[in-house]
Amino acid sequence: MTEPRSSSYIWVTWITGLLAADKHCEWAAWFRAHYQGYAKVPSDFDLAAWKAAHGDMVRKRAEELRAAGYGVYVEDQNKFSLKGRAATLGGVADLVAVREGDGLVIDCKSGQRRDSDAFQVLTYMLALPLTHQACRGVRLGGEVQYRDSRLAIAPEKLTGELKGLILRTIESVGGEAPLPRVPSLSECRFCDITAADCPERIEEAQRVEVVETDLF
Ligand code: SF4
Repeated sequence: MTEPRSSSYIWVTWITGLLAADKHCEWAAWFRAHYQGYAKVPSDFDLAAWKAAHGDMVRKRAEELRAAGYGVYVEDQNKFSLKGRAATLGGVADLVAVREGDGLVIDCKSGQRRDSDAFQVLTYMLALPLTHQACRGVRLGGEVQYRDSRLAIAPEKLTGELKGLILRTIESVGGEAPLPRVPSLSECRFCDITAADCPERIEEAQRVEVVETDLF
C-alpha cells in the first residue's frame, strides 16, 4: 500500500538518470523519495542471471586490485546513509579500493553503457569521503567497470559545478514540492510506478501526427 515516508529518502540510482539527462521524469524520483510500499509494475528482468554476472565482475576486479596492493572493500562494506537537511541519500558502491593515499570507487555494469553510470560513481565520490572510514583524506577517483572495458574517472572530474548539480538535484527531489511528470513511452516502459499512483503513465506508443509544410 502506498504510504508517505516519515522523511525524504533518495537511493542514488533514482537520480543518476536525471543528472545525466538520460531521464526527464523528475516526478518518478520525487515520488520514490516521498512514498514507499507502492505496488510495482511486474518486471521480466532476470535478477538471478544479473546477480551471477555482476557478482563475477565484482570478484574479478577485487582480485585484480588486491593483487595490485590495494585494500579492498566490497558491496555492503560500502553501504552508506547520508542524512542532510533535504533528504537522506542512500547507496552502496560495488568496490572501494585504497592504496597509499589514493582511492578508487568502482561500479560494475554487466549491461550496456549509459551516461548515468559515470554520474552514479561521481555521486559515490561525493558521499563516501563523508561516510566511509577508508575514504577519508584519500584522493578518491572512480571507475565504471564494463564487461569488456573500463571508464576511469579522475578525482578532478568531480568539479565544484558538478557537486552543485548533484546537491541541487538531491534538494529538489527531496523537497516538499512535487516535481513535473514527463510521461513518454521510452521512460514509462522502464518505470515501476503503476497507473494507480501515476495516472499519466503511458502504456502504448502514441501516434505522431504528420503535419505537412511548404517551408522546405
Ligand atoms: S509512469 Fe511515466 S510519467 Fe509516471 S512516474 Fe513513471 S516515468 Fe513518470
